Amino acid sequence: MAEDSITGPGSSARLEAVWRDAQVNRRQFMAHQLTPLMRALVMSAFAGYALFLAGTQWVGPNAFPMWPKLLVLLALLLVSMSTLPASFDRYVTLAGWASLALLQVGILLAGLYRAEAFDWLLSAFLVIILGTSPTWMNTRDFVIAMLLSFSGPLAAMWLLQPSPQVLMQLGVFLIIALGVAIVVHLFMQRQLNAQWLLQQKLAMIASTDMLTGITNRMHFFALGNRKVHSAHERGLPLCALYIDVDHFKRINDDFGHATGDDALVAVATALQSRLRQGDVLGRVGGEEFAMLLPATGLDHATQVAERLRSAVERLDLSCGRLTISVGVAMLRRDDQAVNGLLAAADHALRRAKQAGRNRVEVAQARPHRENALHLVGKGESDS
Ligand code: GH3
Ligand code: MG
Ligand code: MG
Repeated sequence: MAEDSITGPGSSARLEAVWRDAQVNRRQFMAHQLTPLMRALVMSAFAGYALFLAGTQWVGPNAFPMWPKLLVLLALLLVSMSTLPASFDRYVTLAGWASLALLQVGILLAGLYRAEAFDWLLSAFLVIILGTSPTWMNTRDFVIAMLLSFSGPLAAMWLLQPSPQVLMQLGVFLIIALGVAIVVHLFMQRQLNAQWLLQQKLAMIASTDMLTGITNRMHFFALGNRKVHSAHERGLPLCALYIDVDHFKRINDDFGHATGDDALVAVATALQSRLRQGDVLGRVGGEEFAMLLPATGLDHATQVAERLRSAVERLDLSCGRLTISVGVAMLRRDDQAVNGLLAAADHALRRAKQAGRNRVEVAQARPHRENALHLVGKGESDS
């Protein structure tokens, strides 16, 4: 698969997961991009109508009294002001539709039954159709906006019964405006979609180790800090494994770096295939991996580490067998970030190395360990 060639095995599954999550977030992304535009357009609707009203009154009032026109202006002001605090994007969409409807009524009130009525009406309706086109989140919202935008011109035709020539002129310009509006809407949707997909891809690349396709160091620490926070919040234990491939330099020296790379991918795949729901695995160094096991006490984490050690030992690779050493540590109550927990696991790893490699060592009691002990057994099935 194309992504695999760039980022290693497992990355296409990651990409799919990002795609899946992104389906949920696409709406949020669109809303984030379009809501400010909609808000600005709703405000422009108020300002534009105020100007339209002033212009039509200046050339001479028509048959309708002033107060309903001012009422529309006031309603447009209220609608536009109401979008200011609204963070709820659906509300801003509703406000957009409301101001479109108000504009249709207001323009008819100020533009009908006057000399050159169609010049005033046509210009106003065309500006609205074109101006509103880029801002709708999806085709359904856009269609509703267009139906509203065309209700005014259709009502004007029905009320004024224009001559066939004027009707032709109106029809031609309305069709041109609708065509342009559709093009602008589709173009905007395509641009935003492309931007959103690019954002998702960049997020994935920024968080993925390019060789093995698992979480990279930066993202592992970000996820790790979240796991630490959540463990404290829920009062559940959290264990870390620090994993280092034994004598890995020899593989590079004896077989070349390409074989070394393949071995790292194989180890990462073996570790990843044993992850449980909620576990986090990252490549934190050249031939070093770290794993976080939420809701897992020290005994269970040690068993997991032992299973991983034995799984890697059983791998049949082109460079022969390789082994890993693992350090295990458990979160203390005063560990506010994942660094301290990993440092303790790393310390245990060094003892595993000193003790002969291909083994699991558990972190010795750290100061304040009694704070950690209260967590053992909570949320854990095996201790
Ligand atoms: P120890 O058992 O003490 O961990 O010995 P070691 O040889 O594994 O440790 P050392 O730190 O001396 O060497 C690690 C080696 O890992 C050195 C480096 O060239 C290799 N390495 C780091 N990243 C990569 C990589 O991405 N690909 C390959 N092929 N090798 C890597
Ligand atoms: Mg190392
Ligand atoms: Mg090593």
